[in-house]
Amino acid sequence: MMKMDMNKKSKLGFVDENQFSGSISYSFPLSKISWLKVGGPVDILFRPKNLDDLSRFLSLIPVEVNVMPIGACSNLLVRDGGLSGVAVKLGGSFSEIEINNNQVKLGAGNFSSKVAVYLSELGYDLSFLRTIPGTIGGAIAMNAGCYGKYIGDYVRSLEGVNKSGKIIRLGKENLQFKYRCTKLPNDFIVTSAILKPKIEKKEAIKLKMKEMLSKREETQPTKKATCGSTFKNPDGKSSLMLEEAIELKAWSLIDRAGLRGKQMGKAMVSKKHPNFLINLGGATSEEMEALGEYVRKSVYEKFKVSLDWEVIRVGRQ
Ligand SMILES: Cc1cc2nc3c(=O)[nH]c(=O)nc-3n(C[C@H](O)[C@H](O)[C@H](O)COP(=O)(O)OP(=O)(O)OC[C@H]3O[C@@H](n4cnc5c(N)ncnc54)[C@H](O)[C@@H]3O)c2cc1C
Repeated sequence: MMKMDMNKKSKLGFVDENQFSGSISYSFPLSKISWLKVGGPVDILFRPKNLDDLSRFLSLIPVEVNVMPIGACSNLLVRDGGLSGVAVKLGGSFSEIEINNNQVKLGAGNFSSKVAVYLSELGYDLSFLRTIPGTIGGAIAMNAGCYGKYIGDYVRSLEGVNKSGKIIRLGKENLQFKYRCTKLPNDFIVTSAILKPKIEKKEAIKLKMKEMLSKREETQPTKKATCGSTFKNPDGKSSLMLEEAIELKAWSLIDRAGLRGKQMGKAMVSKKHPNFLINLGGATSEEMEALGEYVRKSVYEKFKVSLDWEVIRVGRQ
């Protein structure tokens, strides 16, 4: 834990950190924990010890201070100027996995891949989570999915806290899971979720996970610094008549625009999977974002299709 920075404390109208059992770090460089290895510092990084700690912390934060939950930062492009306010990172203290009546309560700090492996041993199939980096909280916020499965299809309810620290439970009927996003109440931090996975033979689940892992290895730069798919697959609407044969997948459009391997500074469009942008080492967020915008512009000029960012860009330029 870093020493209290009196300037930050007074600037944010903050309270004494000793009353929280979680850790507080000031000016924490998010490049240290982001998958892309880019991004400036966040004013305050809070890692709560438990739900009460988080709730109390939030109840004491002035309303004007931004609060953003982060997981493993596997889908975040934090800009070089960093984030103002507070980033709340749920970790090991939010990693419960409890099974009751074939429903599973998952702490939002659990790693999605770890959950898939753990549950496979018990005959519960959330195998698609095996190859998705990040935490359960991040997976829920993004409605993460692959190979035709989405986490939202399994969620029964969520527990979390709002900006004023109130603990709230939301049933499925209060949630809208869409393609790569979930409509959560404003400033809602998911702390746990109840899911109902399918029951399946252990061997079958393990085989599926093995197949998905090798498919990823074959088609994606899994060992590089990336955020996975940069853009959502477009919905197919275009003002230009495209040949029916052209798949309206983001990677295919980027490839057809001739951008495979395109480089800007240390940022590069992956040669293996053109919807992945790679930090070759030492890239800035500015380079990563500029390359992404160049890709969008080029695809639009060629196909009149606007690619929407799937990666969430936050922070000061
Ligand atoms: C190699 C690679 C492959 C990938 N493949 C896939 C894939 O196949 N499918 C897919 O969907 N994604 C994929 N991703 C993207 C990413 O892994 C997922 O979106 C993941 O679920 C993000 O989780 P995270 O914990 O890292 O969230 P973060 O990146 O930290 O945050 C993402 C968003 O979730 C919000 N958030 C995080 N935690 C919480 C919380 N507790 N409560 C409320 N909101 C929260 C953040 O505010 C932010 O808006 C891939 C990424 C990489 C690097």
